[in-house]
Amino acid sequence: MRQLILILGDQLSLASPALLEADPAKDGVLMIEAAGEAKAVWSHKARIALFLSAMRHFAHSMTEAGWSLDYVAMDDPAAADFGIRLREALQRHSPKILKVIEPGELRMLQMIEQVCEQAKVQLQVLDDTHFLCSRHEFASWAKGKKELRMEYFYRVMRKKYAVLMEGEEPAGGSWNFDADNRSPYPKRTGPGLIPAPAAFAPDALTLEVMALVERHFPDHPGSLANFVWAVTREQALQALQVFIDTRLLHFGTYQDAMWTDTPLGWHSLLSTALNLHLLNPREVIAAAEQAYRQGQVSLESAEGFIRQILGWREFIRGVYWLDMPGMKEANHYGHQRDLPAWFWTGDTRMACMRDSLKQTLELGYAHHIQRLMVTGNFALLAELSPQQVSDWYLAIYVDAIEWVELPNTAGMALHACGPRFTSKPYVASGAYIKRQSNYCTGCTYDPAKRSGEAACPFTTLYWHFIDKHEQSLKINPRTALMAKNVQKLSEDERVAIRTHAANLLENLDGL
Ligand SMILES: Cc1cc2nc3c(=O)[nH]c(=O)nc-3n(C[C@H](O)[C@H](O)[C@H](O)COP(=O)(O)OP(=O)(O)OC[C@H]3O[C@@H](n4cnc5c(N)ncnc54)[C@H](O)[C@@H]3O)c2cc1C
Ligand code: SF4
Repeated sequence: MRQLILILGDQLSLASPALLEADPAKDGVLMIEAAGEAKAVWSHKARIALFLSAMRHFAHSMTEAGWSLDYVAMDDPAAADFGIRLREALQRHSPKILKVIEPGELRMLQMIEQVCEQAKVQLQVLDDTHFLCSRHEFASWAKGKKELRMEYFYRVMRKKYAVLMEGEEPAGGSWNFDADNRSPYPKRTGPGLIPAPAAFAPDALTLEVMALVERHFPDHPGSLANFVWAVTREQALQALQVFIDTRLLHFGTYQDAMWTDTPLGWHSLLSTALNLHLLNPREVIAAAEQAYRQGQVSLESAEGFIRQILGWREFIRGVYWLDMPGMKEANHYGHQRDLPAWFWTGDTRMACMRDSLKQTLELGYAHHIQRLMVTGNFALLAELSPQQVSDWYLAIYVDAIEWVELPNTAGMALHACGPRFTSKPYVASGAYIKRQSNYCTGCTYDPAKRSGEAACPFTTLYWHFIDKHEQSLKINPRTALMAKNVQKLSEDERVAIRTHAANLLENLDGL
């Protein structure tokens, strides 16, 4: 065999550069299912099922397209280390070259490198052209900058790809319309009727995979009862169309809104299809821009959505590769507390955490503001170990792959990388959650109280955080106001907050 092309579980595109360069008559393709990957962190059942089902559907497309495919299915989980299976496959095929697109995780890249070195097979790692900004291009942009800011990167990308541009200027005269977005749902009427996203009942192949997951990973967290994710390119395209036609309309307005029993809001739910490469970000961006140009949606919504993909998604990936492996150990505040056990059950009296965690266990999904300003905010205020928190996020979300999960968790939610790529810690008290949701109605706790039994833990721990970090917050223009506000509290109040916070932090499992 001239070359063997290794397709990883999150590289499911027939337009992969490794395939475009290859010849089905001379080259082979290898795909490997490995239980070790599902166990590296204690993965949600839906996350495992999504990867396996999408891989098996893709394998069908590969054979239909005439490729000679060696598909190593998961049989005995005990012998299921990815490295072992790769080594066996290299022995079986004796290729001159193993070709792979850049994996989405440094650990995987290092494992493949090691196996090839031991097997004395030449390894060729190709740029992942799924992304609009290559690792090399991002590194050039970042060169000489101590601190990286998404907003400036995003402008470069908008210009480079002529997205939402009017000549040299941004459409509508502004790069960012966040000031017009991010409303809460109307407090009196709630979210009202939100059009449902596309949902795909599991077909025979997915049902087979779901049974396998229940058999091999019975004690893993989460449920498969609500599994309706797109597992093929055709379904992913349908999901995109439904989003553009019915849900993009209010995406921007309600991007940061939360409400009980409204787990999906107006969000796209496209991260899984994008991350598995069933969708190309270019086609998603183009569809959103076209909807705006045709007058279907406002510029605010289209820009807000496009920024998440052309801006945040590309930026986050660039930062991951630039700052690994250090990012995995980053701990700006030196936080060491253990993740409370109820992160895995949702059994807490805090209504906002309960809602966000329960839906995560049911669906493997929570939207961005729940991840950032509810669970992430709590994890930072409660001084949880960034490594334990990152492992949890990697395990529990269906769209989790390290290149996107780690920078979002360590960098954005926990400020564990300091000011490297976020200008301030994203901390907020119960007042923010009350403003953006209805969670506080009927909660055991009171978001307005800073100390005492009834005080909302977010509020107590927020003021404790500001009190503790007053000096560093004072010198940052973006957080100086927080420091000013804490200075307005009397010494008695500050002592009461410290005392109550110390008690909460010692008893996180009991919240
Ligand atoms: C702590 C934390 C952990 C996260 N972990 C992941 C993860 O493992 N995988 C993942 O794909 N996203 C992650 N995100 C980013 C974001 O929350 C999800 O992409 C989004 O919630 C997915 O839902 P959606 O497709 O409905 O997104 P929408 O709100 O509809 O946004 C559209 C698309 O924009 C992209 N996007 C939006 N925000 C981000 C972001 N901050 N970083 C990268 N891409 C973004 C996604 O591809 C998403 O599908 C995380 C965010 C936080 C705060
Ligand atoms: S009171 Fe505090 S804990 Fe309860 S829902 Fe509101 S923010 Fe969450």
